[in-house]
Amino acid sequence: MPIHEKSLIRPENLTTHEELVLDGVDVSGHWSTFIETRVVKDYNEDMQDEIAALPGGEHIHRCWQCGSCTNACTVNALNPDFNPRYWIYLIRMGYESELLRDKDIIWQCVSCNKCTYACPRDVFPEGVMKATAHWLEKKGHTEKSPSTHFDEVFTEQIVSTGKIEESRTMRRFFSRTGQALAQPWMIEMVKRMLRGLPVGMLTRMGLATLIAPKTNDWSKASAAIQEYIDEQHDKQVQALSLAELVETAKQDVAA
Ligand code: SF4
Ligand code: SF4
Repeated sequence: MPIHEKSLIRPENLTTHEELVLDGVDVSGHWSTFIETRVVKDYNEDMQDEIAALPGGEHIHRCWQCGSCTNACTVNALNPDFNPRYWIYLIRMGYESELLRDKDIIWQCVSCNKCTYACPRDVFPEGVMKATAHWLEKKGHTEKSPSTHFDEVFTEQIVSTGKIEESRTMRRFFSRTGQALAQPWMIEMVKRMLRGLPVGMLTRMGLATLIAPKTNDWSKASAAIQEYIDEQHDKQVQALSLAELVETAKQDVAA
């Protein structure tokens, strides 16, 4: 049967034989174009649970696919391929390989939360996008994003001192993401600060950069926060690695 609408078929799903003769008939080239099967065999049945185990993904099961999130989405208006409703569908169905096709644009969510306000089921789609981006990182499908590096630097500073000292946060963030500290905008900002801020405040800021002041009696609070972080981390690792173990077991049985 001829292919009437080639634009609806992904190029990688088309196979053409340069030289092929069937029953004595030469069907080489265009005449032997076949469409790969659309049957999906590589389900990840635990995918919804894995995303739900990460912060923001907890309510993904509530989605009824109305599409209000995508309709309201800031990024979708610029890039129609950015489609939260579709990704939630893929996750709930376990279509991991389909989701991975879009792994390089899922991080583009700008956290505007327009989807969150539009959602009639309190799915919290912005959170689901964040959880999905983290899931991609934790599973090794994407590199750790600058946003994740920033979260880590920020959290480490809070846990150790109970205070945020912006210049240290920025220095560590630039260092971890391999960026030069002397960014043009940073130089301009420092110049303006030197011109506009009182000397006393500048001195305090300089000292804070050097000596990393701590909140009084911070050690107990720090230990409690760290305990909570470790607990959540263990839960996430367990949710993700348990799923992998189950998958390995299933493959062993199939073999
Ligand atoms: S938070 Fe993200 S997914 Fe939601 S509307 Fe904004 S850009 Fe789109
Ligand atoms: S708006 Fe809510 S219920 Fe509707 S598709 Fe988006 S996440 Fe699902």
